[in-house]
Amino acid sequence: MKICIVGAGPAGSYAALLLAKQGHKVDVFEEHPEIGLPIQCTGIVTKALFELIEKDDYILQTMNAIKINAPNHTVEMPLHEYIICRHKFDQHLAKKAQSAGATYHVEHRFVRTEDNKAVFRHKGEETSQVYDILIGADGPSSEVAKTAGLLTKQPVWVGVQATIEGKWDPHMFETWFGSAAAPGFFAWSVPESPTVSRVGVAGTHKPRMFFDKISKNMGKVKDMQGGPIPIYQKRAVHKDNVYLVGDAAGLVKATTGGGIITGMLSAKALATALLKQEPYEKHLKGLRKELRIHSLLRWLLNRFSDKDYDRLVRLMQNTKVKKILYEHPREFPSKFLTKLLLAEPRFILFTKVLFQRKFAAQSMPSSA
Ligand SMILES: Cc1cc2nc3c(=O)[nH]c(=O)nc-3n(C[C@H](O)[C@H](O)[C@H](O)COP(=O)(O)OP(=O)(O)OC[C@H]3O[C@@H](n4cnc5c(N)ncnc54)[C@H](O)[C@@H]3O)c2cc1C
Repeated sequence: MKICIVGAGPAGSYAALLLAKQGHKVDVFEEHPEIGLPIQCTGIVTKALFELIEKDDYILQTMNAIKINAPNHTVEMPLHEYIICRHKFDQHLAKKAQSAGATYHVEHRFVRTEDNKAVFRHKGEETSQVYDILIGADGPSSEVAKTAGLLTKQPVWVGVQATIEGKWDPHMFETWFGSAAAPGFFAWSVPESPTVSRVGVAGTHKPRMFFDKISKNMGKVKDMQGGPIPIYQKRAVHKDNVYLVGDAAGLVKATTGGGIITGMLSAKALATALLKQEPYEKHLKGLRKELRIHSLLRWLLNRFSDKDYDRLVRLMQNTKVKKILYEHPREFPSKFLTKLLLAEPRFILFTKVLFQRKFAAQSMPSSA
C-alpha cells in the first residue's frame, strides 16, 4: 500500500518505521527543514519508551529522584526516568524509518487532499502525492484532522518552557503544585546538566505569568519555547482512509501532558491494525483505557485545594507508595492504582473533593 504520513515527530516516524518494516511504500512529509526542530518539549520519558525503541545517544540525562512541592509540604521520591534530546530523538526515529525503506520529504507543508492525493506546499509551489492511506501525525493543530473533518474542539493547555542556566542537581527533577505555582496543572524543573535545566509551566490560566514568577530567581533564562498540549478526550481518529496518531489524535496524558510514549503507542496500534486488517479502535482500546484513568485523575486534581495537595504529598511519604511509583511507569495507571490504594487507603478520602468543590459547576469530562 502507498502510505502517506504527515509530520515527522515521534508518532509519525514511529508509524513510518513500523509500516515500512511491513513492506509498505511509506512517504513522510514534514513542514520544517530539519527533523526535530524547533523543540517544544521537555523530553522527560519513563522506561516504557524502551519497550518501543532501543536506547541511544538521544538520552541526555538519567533521573533518579523527584521532589514534589505542594504549597507547604515536600516529598522526595526515588525514580528512574530519562531526559531526552528531542532533536536527536526525532532524528534517530527518522533514520531508523529511512533504513527500513521510508522516504522523507522536508519543507513540505500539508495543505489539503484532492481525491486520494495529498497536496503539499513546497518552496512556494504545490506538489501532490497519491496515497491509499493518509496518516495525520501533524501535532495538536492537525491540518489532516481538519481536512478529514476529524478535528473536534478539544481542551488544550499551553506549555511555556525555557532552559535556565543555574546550579542544579542533575539527577533530580522537581515539580510544584498549587494555586501559587500553577493552578490547574504544575510547574517543573528538569535538569539536562548540572548547569542547565528545562523549567516550565503549563495550564489554561496565564502560564507565562506563572512561568515568570517561578523562574524569577533561578538563573539566566535562555531559549524560550512553548506550545499547545491537547488534553485527552475521546474523539474519532479514523475516517475512510485517513487515520490520526499522537497529538493529532489528542492522545496525551491529562495528568502530566506527556505525549511522546502515548503517541508512539498509537502509531504501534495503527500499524498492528493495518497489518491485521482490523479496526484501529480495536487496537487503541488499551491505550484509551489508560488515558481515561489519567483524565479521571486530572478531573479530581482540578478540584484540589492547596490543603489537598499538602495532604497528598504527606501521604506520598509512605515507603510502600514510593516503591510502587518507582516500579511502575505512569503511562499505565491501571497497573498500579489499586496497589496504591491498598498501600495507602487514605488516598480514597480525596474522592470527597468531588462533593465539596465545583461539583455543580463542572460536569464529568466526556472521556471519563
Ligand atoms: C512545553 C511542552 C513540554 C512537553 N514536555 C513533554 C515531556 O516532557 N514528555 C512527554 O512525553 N511529552 C511532552 N510534551 C508533549 C509532547 O511534546 C507531544 O505529546 C509529542 O511531541 C507528540 O508527538 P507527535 O509526533 O504526535 O507530534 P509532534 O511532536 O508535534 O510532531 C508533529 C510534526 O508534524 C509537523 N507538522 C505540523 N503540521 C504540519 C503540516 N501541515 N505539514 C507537514 N508537517 C506538519 C511538525 O512540524 C512536527 O514535526 C510537551 C509539550 C510541550 C508543549
